[in-house]
Amino acid sequence: MAEWARAKLIALRPHAKTHKSGEIARRQIASGAVGICCAKIGEAEALAAEGVADILITSPVVSVAAVERLVRLNQAIERLAVVVDHPANVDRLAGALGDGRMDVLVDIDTGTHRTGVTSPEAAVALARRIAGSDSLRYRGVQFYCGSLQHIRSIDARRAALAERADYLRIVLDALRSAGLDPGAVTGGGTGSFVVDAELGVLNELQCGSYVFMDREYRDCEAVGPAFEQALSIATRVVSANTPGRVTIDAGLKAMATDAGPTCVLSGADPASDYLFMGDEHGMLVTPDGGVDPALDQLIMLVPPHCDPTVNLYDRFTLCDGDTITGFWPVSARGRSS
Ligand code: PLP
Ligand code: MN
Repeated sequence: MAEWARAKLIALRPHAKTHKSGEIARRQIASGAVGICCAKIGEAEALAAEGVADILITSPVVSVAAVERLVRLNQAIERLAVVVDHPANVDRLAGALGDGRMDVLVDIDTGTHRTGVTSPEAAVALARRIAGSDSLRYRGVQFYCGSLQHIRSIDARRAALAERADYLRIVLDALRSAGLDPGAVTGGGTGSFVVDAELGVLNELQCGSYVFMDREYRDCEAVGPAFEQALSIATRVVSANTPGRVTIDAGLKAMATDAGPTCVLSGADPASDYLFMGDEHGMLVTPDGGVDPALDQLIMLVPPHCDPTVNLYDRFTLCDGDTITGFWPVSARGRSS
């Protein structure tokens, strides 16, 4: 991803919500990323403690207590930035910073109404408020089209992203006309980065899932560089008494379930169907003509959705083929606020 972004002359700021790992964040930066994104202040604190020095927090930080933590983190690392979408939040940040200085970006609602200002006028008003504060530096805007990332057909995804880019251009024109030229125009994900580069509106990409991949993204039509499945869930056959099916020790607690079932990466027929069998277990149904895996067989599964799956584990087990080569902590596990 770093190589690809370099060739396209777009900055890469990978989202660390996917891995929650200082080790992986540092490797991404060493490979050419300008810094990383974090979803929440807690995630940023955990990764900063492991030496990550350039962080953008991609959700508004609102409560008094959280803003105090933000100010402390801003003093502790080289470069911290946060998005805002409300004037009251701008005022609270400015008040809490005192003599400190911090970069702030205007978050723009892409149409999902998750976060962000909802009109070009509101974007201009908020950028003006930031630029008018002594303690805040107006770095630019964020525009992350989350709900478009997993549109399966690339043609349909490209059309939806192009329509949203037209809207973003209107917002950017309004900002430029008001003398508020955004330095950073940041956004994009694993499902959109190739199209984002074609559209030429973003100058910084926030892709996260590419580093691991998951079943949801494998189900989507991809263009551009292909990413291997780097993350898998290790499970064993713990019961094999019924022909055509086996029970494995990976159930609801082993993976995030919002994106549906897992699938087999290795150790069993890849065409097997997985069925959830409660908290602790799952069933693999062997396809017609296939061979059932044996008791105690090691089976590697593809996580249905990588980010919330990682958050279920304390550590990554590193493997080179069949050899375990080390462990990395999921340092920001559970740091959701
Ligand atoms: N940017 C923001 C604001 C996000 O919320 C996310 C993921 O949810 C990403 C970037 C990364 O997207 P992806 O994991 O699809 O690459
Ligand atoms: Mn995700």
